[in-house]
Amino acid sequence: MRIQRKRRGDYNYAKHGVTQGWLQSWLACRQKTRYYSELWSSLKESRNFWYGGVVHEALERLHKMVEVPNNEDVKQIVEDCMATLYEELEKGRAKKDDMEAAELLHVNVEVVVSAYVEHWSEDWSDRNHWVETEFEFNIDVEGVPLRGKIDGIVRRGKGNDNWWVFETKTRSQISDDLPRQLAVDFQSQVYQYAVARTYDTVPKGVYYNIVRNPGLKLGSKTLPEHRERLAEDIEKRPDWYFRRFEIIGDPSDNKDFVNDLKKIIQEYKLWCQGLRPCYRNRGACYSGGFFSCAYLDACISGNMIGYYKRDRLFPELESD
Ligand code: SF4
Repeated sequence: MRIQRKRRGDYNYAKHGVTQGWLQSWLACRQKTRYYSELWSSLKESRNFWYGGVVHEALERLHKMVEVPNNEDVKQIVEDCMATLYEELEKGRAKKDDMEAAELLHVNVEVVVSAYVEHWSEDWSDRNHWVETEFEFNIDVEGVPLRGKIDGIVRRGKGNDNWWVFETKTRSQISDDLPRQLAVDFQSQVYQYAVARTYDTVPKGVYYNIVRNPGLKLGSKTLPEHRERLAEDIEKRPDWYFRRFEIIGDPSDNKDFVNDLKKIIQEYKLWCQGLRPCYRNRGACYSGGFFSCAYLDACISGNMIGYYKRDRLFPELESD
């Protein structure tokens, strides 16, 4: 029997590699990875990721500062981070009300990040705490570059090798089951493996840094009124907005994970070579009634109206 090989666009797995998010997406639905590898992104869905993207970028830059940042530093950095988003909107890719949503986001991020710096000022007062901030890795797994960027590696407690992966997650809701869920989190396990491979030091686990996405709506308030209300809310309940907890790594589970990861990548390579089929997994199109796949419209309509081509394969990485 002749095996029909189909090339996946210009994407080359051996050259461009994969990220953990890319692999997770492929495991959920192969068609989704095909769209993404062809650089298609949704105009509509991107708004859901604005808050996380801007907070991550702002914290990345702030954590590189030697002194505790002041309000002016935060304001300037958030403004710079927002500039890219405003630019995108001005290019006309977004709807009219996106600009209002961006202005509200700008206020939210500035208020939350200013309060974060005050709440976690120890991040700056003890520089010894950081082994690395924004650590970009690229390791070979089964002939495929596995790439990614980790928010940080921190030292905690006694001992120079007491390393932890530091990972920020922005959430609007936190389930009571979150610690159990994070114990098997694909991303965390990839990151621990990447640190161990790069530095020859096995991290003790993952230190999670939760930054809440404020649920407050603008309603009938003006932006300055909203700013004031949000600052008061954070002052009243800082522990709701900022939480940290540790998930201790289990070495035997990590070993199982690495074996699984290798098998996943072997299978992924075969798919890239056209030796495994591409199909739509309808079980991954939506979950919980709230989350819909970014390519839902494309799969329903069969065309790419409402989508645009990204400039970069991995926008989250410095080197693309
Ligand atoms: S909408 Fe469903 S079938 Fe289509 S790419 Fe997304 S998950 Fe896959």
